[in-house]
Amino acid sequence: MDKDKKPPTTKVSKPTIKPSASITNPPTVPIRKKLTFNVSGFQKKLSSLAVNNLLEGEPDYEKLPSLSKVKRAREKQKTKYKPSLTNTSKIVREVDIPIKITVQELASRMSEKTGDVVKALMKSGIMATANQYIDGDTAELIVNDFGHSPNRQASVSLKEVIANYQKTNQSIIKPRPPIVTVMGHVDHGKTSLLDALRNTNVTAKESGGITQHIGAYQVKHKDSIITFLDTPGHAAFTNIRSRGANLTDIVVLVVAANDSVKPQTIEAISHAKTANVPIVLAINKIDLPDVNPDKVRNDLLTHEIVVESFQGDVLETEISALKKINLDKLLDNILLQVGILNLDVEYNKLADAIVVESKIETGRGPVATIIINNGTLSEGDHFTCGPAFGKVRALLNEKGEKVKQATPGMPIEVLGFDSIPSAGDTLYAMPNEEAAKEITEKVKDQQQLESKESVKKSSLEEMMSNISKGDIKKLPIIVKADVQGSLEAIVSSLEKIGNDEVTINVVHSAIGAINESDVSLADAAEGLVIGFNIRAIPQARSIAKRDKVDIRYYSIIYELVDDMTKLLSGLLSSDTKEEIIGHAEVRDTFNSSKLGTIAGCYVTNGFASNAAKIRLVRAGKIIYEGEVGSLKRFKDNVKEVKENYECGISFKDYSDILAKDEIEFYITKQIQKEL
Ligand code: GDP
Ligand code: MG
Repeated sequence: MDKDKKPPTTKVSKPTIKPSASITNPPTVPIRKKLTFNVSGFQKKLSSLAVNNLLEGEPDYEKLPSLSKVKRAREKQKTKYKPSLTNTSKIVREVDIPIKITVQELASRMSEKTGDVVKALMKSGIMATANQYIDGDTAELIVNDFGHSPNRQASVSLKEVIANYQKTNQSIIKPRPPIVTVMGHVDHGKTSLLDALRNTNVTAKESGGITQHIGAYQVKHKDSIITFLDTPGHAAFTNIRSRGANLTDIVVLVVAANDSVKPQTIEAISHAKTANVPIVLAINKIDLPDVNPDKVRNDLLTHEIVVESFQGDVLETEISALKKINLDKLLDNILLQVGILNLDVEYNKLADAIVVESKIETGRGPVATIIINNGTLSEGDHFTCGPAFGKVRALLNEKGEKVKQATPGMPIEVLGFDSIPSAGDTLYAMPNEEAAKEITEKVKDQQQLESKESVKKSSLEEMMSNISKGDIKKLPIIVKADVQGSLEAIVSSLEKIGNDEVTINVVHSAIGAINESDVSLADAAEGLVIGFNIRAIPQARSIAKRDKVDIRYYSIIYELVDDMTKLLSGLLSSDTKEEIIGHAEVRDTFNSSKLGTIAGCYVTNGFASNAAKIRLVRAGKIIYEGEVGSLKRFKDNVKEVKENYECGISFKDYSDILAKDEIEFYITKQIQKEL
């Protein structure tokens, strides 16, 4: 069969229209093109719809005597629709359109039938029911189609509204303290370094020695204040960034001299580069005997980190977090790097700040740690923060002391939220409660629009349309593979694809399963993740699903390269697509003289099917692809086994199955090409 023609796995959603995510973004040109049809065009569409209606009501389509009957019916339908659209006495209404509106409400404002509006939307590729929301831009086009006159409610951007509220007469502008994020491989000494820098013992408080949450502290060095962030993972760093907040001015990359460059070191470099944040290198653990700091310098060269002593521009310091060696020199280097950044902000305006972490505490309610970006936050200030709002009940500094005010660069704990905000949300102080509520309502409206109620394009479709529009010049790709050899071959082939206009930018490449960090990196870079002979871990899968990040799996290099070439030339529309229908975990194995190895499995998600194709995944690597031999519930052969049920599975022609392996069930679908 087409076993070696492994089609890309992507969401098999129809290209639909993405409502403009924010009220400031008008819909893109192709969407408008798709939506605007003149009245006669509209009739044409409706008449073909009428035929469909007719066919639905006429199950004996095959036995229809002739085409003329269809034609007659079509004429009849046509005349039936005509009056409502071309009737000269039709009343043209002024229709008020807010930033979002339900289909039903829009219909009633136009005095049209809800069903007709639903149909008109459907013809434009939007599947919306009466109670679903559509955005203002779509509504405007629909109103035009029905011959009414749209009246858009002034769409000022949220930022403008906020800026208006936060206006000041006399600005005091001066640089804020730099915000530094410490990154690096696990156990290379991130927490120990932060700990040494602020002289308190965080490591001891952490359960199991693993950083539990984002901590933020300020350190004073030679009249300068530096704000430090300790991220629990690089994904968190990028998550905050992917929500539009830039919370880091400098990344301190910690590399242990006895261990050198490790996977998370490379990951950290990719994250910092994607965020365009300068790196300051700390080579740690130089107190250990027989360590070789130059190996770190050399190893980093392959990742385009050239340190100063090698004539590069990355400042480096050999330190020991444990023995507190050269910490001053590291701080000097950080300040040196800060020197070339512009960190000027306004001090005497209402504050805006970014949420670093949030939690609900008994007795205190929702609590958030924020870092002030701009302005000053004072006790008693009203504020809006994502879908939450409130009034500052108390401000607590890093030592847990109450303070009256917080200034730029300062990490501070805030009490007084009505509900819990998320990391990455921006807090804006407001002059009064009404303003805070007004902005919060607007944010909620936007979020509702963006939520599942609305139709969203898959990221790949979006990317393709951006490529064809010329908006994308470099397609960011994250590559994960099973072995170094394949990885190198893939990366070098990918970098050769492209022409003067579009090229591929391999943002990050590494060996191993696709993890959350890879997905968040792709999300932030607005690119896609490629897995070669490896799989995504479940957490990464669910984040990818939530954030609509495309993960594409391949096991043949030339197919991968072929697909990416097609993608770049905007031609990717494969006839078959792969859909993963479920996963099962192997709990135990048994031997049967008739069937070979039988895997006792538990279906962890989706369902298992005896008609599906399967992949056997061991520790993130694909070790076998083929078909199901038998699928059993107890002694019976069955067609399907649902999520959370146990079953016995044997493979056709394969028996090397072990406990803890994962079985992936997938089907290949024939996709109708869209015109
Ligand atoms: P993180 O995972 O990067 O936060 O690393 P930790 O700060 O938790 O440190 C991991 C281990 O390395 C701990 O056992 C530390 O005591 C040890 N360590 C950290 N810095 C140094 C150092 O400068 N020298 C030595 N010898 N050990 C260190
Ligand atoms: Mg740590």
